[in-house]
Amino acid sequence: MALNNIKKLLHLSPIGQNISINARRFKSLSCKVLIVGGGSGGCSVSAKFSKILKKHELIIVEPSDIHYYQALFTLVGAGIRSLKDSLRSTASVLPKNSTWIKDSVVEFKPETNSVLLSNGDQITYDYIVISTGLILHFEEIVGLNEALTTPYVCSNYSPEYVENTYKVLQKLESGNAVFTYPDSPVKCPGAPQKICYLTEDYLRINGKRDKVNIYYNTSLPVIFGVKRYADALWKIVENRGIHVNLRTNLVKIDPDKRIAYFENLDNPDIKTQLEYNMLHVTPPMSPPNVIKKNKLLVNEAGFVDVDKNTLQHIRFPNVFSLGDCCSTPNSKTAAAIGCQSKVLYDNINCLIDGKKMSRSYNGYASCPLVTGYNSCILAEFDYDLQPLETLPFRQDQERWIFYFLKKDILPPLYWHLMLRGVWNGPGIVRKLLRLKLK
Ligand SMILES: Cc1cc2nc3c(=O)[nH]c(=O)nc-3n(C[C@H](O)[C@H](O)[C@H](O)COP(=O)(O)OP(=O)(O)OC[C@H]3O[C@@H](n4cnc5c(N)ncnc54)[C@H](O)[C@@H]3O)c2cc1C
Repeated sequence: MALNNIKKLLHLSPIGQNISINARRFKSLSCKVLIVGGGSGGCSVSAKFSKILKKHELIIVEPSDIHYYQALFTLVGAGIRSLKDSLRSTASVLPKNSTWIKDSVVEFKPETNSVLLSNGDQITYDYIVISTGLILHFEEIVGLNEALTTPYVCSNYSPEYVENTYKVLQKLESGNAVFTYPDSPVKCPGAPQKICYLTEDYLRINGKRDKVNIYYNTSLPVIFGVKRYADALWKIVENRGIHVNLRTNLVKIDPDKRIAYFENLDNPDIKTQLEYNMLHVTPPMSPPNVIKKNKLLVNEAGFVDVDKNTLQHIRFPNVFSLGDCCSTPNSKTAAAIGCQSKVLYDNINCLIDGKKMSRSYNGYASCPLVTGYNSCILAEFDYDLQPLETLPFRQDQERWIFYFLKKDILPPLYWHLMLRGVWNGPGIVRKLLRLKLK
């Protein structure tokens, strides 16, 4: 479904027509807590603060009037869910007891506790939470933007292209299906291979598997960062005849000849190319420029430079960050945000009360590695890349119940618990299950 049709369904303004809620009436605003970004991180944290602050004390700056549950894109790409299932209007997911300004921050000024908006207004704050997510850089791969307009190339990473994946998949009869992972940090590092497994399964179910070669070309030196799950995934690719090429980075596409060009990141002399009948691209990503350009705000890689346990900024004590744009070395997932939001909220409250910060984030992240139309491995782990599993049975094995969890349990959990500030990660479930077992 085209984005403008979705906007009509939600009774929103067409793309490009910028409506503004309240923003133009104010030249200079101030608040107790300012949240920049109304995605997974911004929504869940603002929901928590909305319970203790007054409407004017909590401001959220978010330019988009659509909020996506991006984790569902994997299932949209595989034809299991629709794009419409993955979205809500931003107005409906932000807390009522808060002030939403539909605009973008164009400059962070942490030295003066203020930000500048694109309409020229300024907001000063006591505390700021930065949660702007990552920007997709399709333009960094030569030929990709043009290739994405052809019926052979797709990407689950953008709401603009995700519906094409299933169209490309349905048309695929023979030849090569190629899946890529870029040379940059990405959100949900499992997603580039989930669609690879789903494609393989789709082809098997539809009797076309023996006519298609499947390649997973990744810039990483491993198939997955956590050994327990990597071991399981290597068995899956071997059993299912998926060719995995490590340290192999997509640099260029020729959409006319349908050829993808790769470099080897360990040996620049090795260049390879593959003809494709289906090419699923995960683009390079980075935090937005507005963050990267403030050198006091970011680390060398351009991520908001926070303490990995407290989520407080290294240099500015009233600046906090969570989600994909912050420097914590966890796997960038919405699952991580569940835990981070509680830590961040409690720590800011400690500072407000003049106390020492009490909460520490352990790097928890989770990745439901969908391996087929009825199977999934449920990876859960911490900063040390050690499994931190919730359920009382092995999670490195393919099970239908993990698939059911991903498809039917996690979406309502996201909309009704996480975005309402109630979900703080599965720690409590893990403890209860352990107690029961004891
Ligand atoms: C294909 C795919 C599959 C995924 N699968 C999973 C999964 O299975 N499990 C899982 O847990 N996670 C998954 N994720 C990852 C998850 O969606 C992200 O980690 C999560 O959305 C990050 O939240 P965030 O708030 O940091 O960023 P986002 O949710 O991306 O929100 C950032 C917000 O900031 C706003 N913004 C940007 N710049 C500015 C500015 N200058 N001023 C104001 N606002 C700004 C944006 O408009 C946006 O709304 C997946 C993601 C993708 C794309």
